[in-house]
Amino acid sequence: MPELPEMQALAERLDEALAGAELEQIVPIQFSAAKTFDPSPDSLVGRELASVGRRAKYLVFEFGGPRLLIHLSQGGRVDVEYPPKTTRPRGGVARFKFAGRPAVLVKEFGTQRKAGWWVLAEGNDGPLEGLGPEPYSDGFEKALMSEKGKRRLHTYLRDQRTVAGIGRGYADEILHDALLSPYAAIGSLTKEERWRLLTSIRAMLDRGVDLERKRTGGLPTKLPDRWKIHGRSGFPCPRCGEDLRRVSFEDYEITYCPNCQTGGKILADRRMSRLIK
Ligand SMILES: [Zn+2]
Repeated sequence: MPELPEMQALAERLDEALAGAELEQIVPIQFSAAKTFDPSPDSLVGRELASVGRRAKYLVFEFGGPRLLIHLSQGGRVDVEYPPKTTRPRGGVARFKFAGRPAVLVKEFGTQRKAGWWVLAEGNDGPLEGLGPEPYSDGFEKALMSEKGKRRLHTYLRDQRTVAGIGRGYADEILHDALLSPYAAIGSLTKEERWRLLTSIRAMLDRGVDLERKRTGGLPTKLPDRWKIHGRSGFPCPRCGEDLRRVSFEDYEITYCPNCQTGGKILADRRMSRLIK
């Protein structure tokens, strides 16, 4: 799933390619992906795109009041088409056409979580409402330094109401870099550990953004191997050489190094299905 770094760099590329252009047409291909009907998508046609930015994992197209949001979810991807095509490709979600500029084709490949798009009237935050602060903000720094409670770090990092833009992949990278157990309770961290976590969050996201800024065009189906930890159980830990391990947690898997992160302890499965049974 694309996370903050992929979406940030994609927003920058789209901004460069499209800002200042007039929206010519929106062609829905898969109708369930359109999450709003009022205002109508056609109300954006003829408007000039002021900029493309990012909030959490959303692309935000600003039209001087109204906004268009795109969320790629698990398997969503973006093609930048120049010249624009008229085909309805398999997995196509919607095509956004801009006068004299490339078109943006949103598509997705087989997953359970679906890409979607929203047209928001001026002043309406839609799905952006309730999102937590961005990882680079002072607001997040303050919240992290005083956060109490028993939420496990992996859950805490992935919760978009806590901090926006981090998913499974970067959560694994961040916790390994910070030498913290994915199962540690957020409220149990010392002040020093909180600083370490904050530093690792920003460092790992920076690393990702730097990598993603080398890309051109849209966001392809196959992303290059950007992980040192995530999905690499059985490979040696890049820091200590021990085998990385994986553990089932809720509905996904966490990768970690027992030597670096859990004091040698092997984490027990916390699978959702097991709890439900
Ligand atoms: Zn290690």
